[in-house]
Amino acid sequence: MGVTNGRLFIAGDWVEPASGHYGVINPATEQVVGEAPEASVEQAQQAAAAAKAAFEGWAAADQSYRSEVLGRIADLLTKYNDDLVPLVQAETGATMRVASTMQVPVAVERFQRYARHALDSTLVPLPPQVAEPTPLAKGGMMGALAHRAPVGVVACITPYNFPLVNMAGKVAPALAMGNTVVIKPAPQDPLQVLRFAEIAQEAGVPEGVINVITGSGPDIGAALVASPDVDMVSFTGSTAVGRKIGEAAGRDIKRQLMELGGKGAAIVLPDADLDTAVAGIGSTWAFHSGQICTAPTRAIVHRSRHDELVDKLVAYAGFCKVGDPLEPTTVVGPLISAAQRDRVEGLLADGVAAGATVAVGGARPGMERGFYAAPTLLTGVTPDMTVAQEEFFGPVIVVLTFDDEDEAVEIANGTPFGLYDYVFSTDTSRAYKIAKRLRSGNVGINTVGRNHETPFGGFKHSGVGRDCGVFALHAYSELQSIVWPG
Ligand code: NAD
Repeated sequence: MGVTNGRLFIAGDWVEPASGHYGVINPATEQVVGEAPEASVEQAQQAAAAAKAAFEGWAAADQSYRSEVLGRIADLLTKYNDDLVPLVQAETGATMRVASTMQVPVAVERFQRYARHALDSTLVPLPPQVAEPTPLAKGGMMGALAHRAPVGVVACITPYNFPLVNMAGKVAPALAMGNTVVIKPAPQDPLQVLRFAEIAQEAGVPEGVINVITGSGPDIGAALVASPDVDMVSFTGSTAVGRKIGEAAGRDIKRQLMELGGKGAAIVLPDADLDTAVAGIGSTWAFHSGQICTAPTRAIVHRSRHDELVDKLVAYAGFCKVGDPLEPTTVVGPLISAAQRDRVEGLLADGVAAGATVAVGGARPGMERGFYAAPTLLTGVTPDMTVAQEEFFGPVIVVLTFDDEDEAVEIANGTPFGLYDYVFSTDTSRAYKIAKRLRSGNVGINTVGRNHETPFGGFKHSGVGRDCGVFALHAYSELQSIVWPG
């Protein structure tokens, strides 16, 4: 396979883009990785129409057939792993460690998981009911069940940070349930998703079941959301874009799954094991340059442990080597783009102007090329500051202090977000009680590790709906009730 064939994947065909191509930039070298197709709005509509035309056949297909197709995709992703990893790395700027372990293998795992779930019964048994006679019906025993039906055509619109993983987290459960999809990857790194389309084709996905359109601007995503052929929008990205999509999708009562931004709180109680807390909070620097929606970016520490925690975090930052993502010793690679680096730098300047102190980092690393930001710790932050409220999506941690538990919970809950929070304490029952007070879709106690059986999603402005585990099957289905006289 080449880097990309430069075409869109619509209705099982490779189609020349109507609006030419644009260059995809390697965030570390600033060199062009490849040319991505620039779809027109009409081509976005054609992709949605193709998915609609394919829906009835795919929805009616044997579950075992859908399972086999998903399984073959997983096998081929594994087969082409060594081709994919360098492309994933070049487009995203991820360190080799992240690109090789957290991108293709996680996408494979998702296709394998939903190949298994494609075989699950779609029936939800319900107890019979004894109904009294009414003017409507004569009453008696009424049998019933509910059936999970596919929603229809799903527009899968994804962000730049984990292009294959985010795509797989939508496409695999959507297809398992009998939906068809149009994938619209992020403009910054879409080439690997076009490669994925080649793999899906080789795996024997029927024409129109998977379609991929790409483009540098928001118009084709917006066209999908507006298309009458699209029944559901599954979106992962920023809250600002999610709001626009929600408004447009709401007008046509389209189903929505929204996985949006985060501003993770990490509450560090007086009895916390600080090494555990620092290893968790430090992942904001050490994992994908902080471009993670679930990152524990706000350290909310009891005043009695503040200085100790800050000292340990500063020491940890010293081990986070910034540099060429291809170097095995590099921990922090570049951000995705100059625009994202500018955003991080702008927010940092705002924090300093508001009175925060840079305990470590702050200045742009002195690389010749690439969109780098240094692992940065801001102390003296108060809850009302912009740096405590807005998502950086970069390697920046802010430190806030509290005196009692109620204050810690109030600070943690005091942003519009509610995606992933953390509690660090050696008293896990106390941590559990605090976790239940957090207005956040997910809470980690003494860990930033994930359990992939859990429902994933956000409270408040961090999203609507849940995916992961079996919950993704619920997200991509409609419940249909069927009743009969017993
Ligand atoms: P983004 O919101 O800028 O873009 C996401 C996608 O939306 C891209 O494909 C983009 O082209 C598309 N888009 C932009 N405008 C659109 C419109 N008007 N209509 C339809 N589509 C449109 O996000 P990003 O910068 O790629 O990613 C970073 C954001 O994603 C962060 O806020 C992060 O927290 C969030 N994120 C959330 C999760 C989660 O699971 N909650 C996971 C990863 C990233």
